[in-house]
Amino acid sequence: MTQVLVINAGSSSLKYAVVDSGSGARMVAGIVERIGEATSTISHEPACGAAGEQTQTPVPDHDAAFAEVRRRLDVVGVDHPGVVGHRVVHGGDSFTRPTLIDRDVIAAIQDCVPLAPLHNPAGLSGISAAMRTFPGVPQVAVFDTAFHTTIPADARTYAIDREVAGKHRLHRYGFHGTSHQYVSQRAAEFLQIPLGRMRAVTMHLGNGASACAVAGGRSVDTSMGVTPLEGLVMGTRSGDVDPSIPAILGREGWSADDIDSMLNHKSGLLGLCGANDMREVHRRAESGDKDADLARRVSAHRIRKYLGAYVFTLGHVDAIVFTAGIGEHDPWIRATVCAGLKAQGIELDPAANEGGSGIRDISTERAAVRVLVVPTDEEHAIAEQSAEVLAMS
Ligand code: ADP
Repeated sequence: MTQVLVINAGSSSLKYAVVDSGSGARMVAGIVERIGEATSTISHEPACGAAGEQTQTPVPDHDAAFAEVRRRLDVVGVDHPGVVGHRVVHGGDSFTRPTLIDRDVIAAIQDCVPLAPLHNPAGLSGISAAMRTFPGVPQVAVFDTAFHTTIPADARTYAIDREVAGKHRLHRYGFHGTSHQYVSQRAAEFLQIPLGRMRAVTMHLGNGASACAVAGGRSVDTSMGVTPLEGLVMGTRSGDVDPSIPAILGREGWSADDIDSMLNHKSGLLGLCGANDMREVHRRAESGDKDADLARRVSAHRIRKYLGAYVFTLGHVDAIVFTAGIGEHDPWIRATVCAGLKAQGIELDPAANEGGSGIRDISTERAAVRVLVVPTDEEHAIAEQSAEVLAMS
């Protein structure tokens, strides 16, 4: 087992955790938010189960954020992690697996910036600040896209001019790979099916959401595309829309950035009903708000549509896996997605769907397809993979 400092750097935030690569136990965890603003917030949990503390202080950049993290790690005696594991959103075509970071790797992540203009620069800031803060500690990049590099050409190719697609590197990359891989492995263990023989549809339903068809432990299709905008309805992202919409708005005078911002930040549940948190959407729907009810139904319909598509893509499935905030905690979404599919071997046990915690089977005994809730743990997955890279280097 290795103590891994897991880092998820956003443009104005830094999430950190010291994770035992074997058990997944957290020794320390926290988040620095509003980096670069007048006042930043540091929320820190000094040890597993201990009361958290919150500090308001200016944190001008990622280097300053790492200094705050380092100070807190020193206090609890975790001053020298075995390895730092970085979540990196876009690995383009260059990275099929977690990779020890060196100058060439940094250049290749930089090369993917046009594909992820907000995410990759933030990831790079995190990497360089971590290298300065923890000199001599190996750093590993774990890519959201890596798990999906096995998607075959028929599912990864957009039917657009091949020259344009080639020049701009436009094809399906997919995201949430760490989570889809982690929950499919846990599902195979739970069902005692060799991973190499299991076929499953995994549904990562959080603020960002994506579906994945997994055959033999490999991704064969996923709903997100060049960017994390395609596919399911999300908290603030539209998911699939007619690709002509940007052109229509462009002709009406919208700039590319305005269109991008509308589709990424003002759409999805938020665009449909003014709330981006599914719990709030349910509260509003249940008190008679028709927009909120439509928002949750549009969301469930899109998930069901992808479920159907991926069951056919795979031919047959052993399991459907629900994970992340909504997937793990929202019986309404799970029941709506799986309703009326007995003939397809999918039947939920209503009591199991409503209750329980941890990894669990929520389908009836007679159903041919196992419907599972599998809590995701991307930090544990990043810690495991970083420790593996370290062991092999
Ligand atoms: P992310 O990591 O992508 O920010 P999460 O995986 O934490 O997101 O999921 C956030 C979503 O999960 C929110 O829409 C939130 O409302 C939803 N969620 C969390 N708990 C529940 C719950 N008990 N019932 C319904 N939705 C929930």
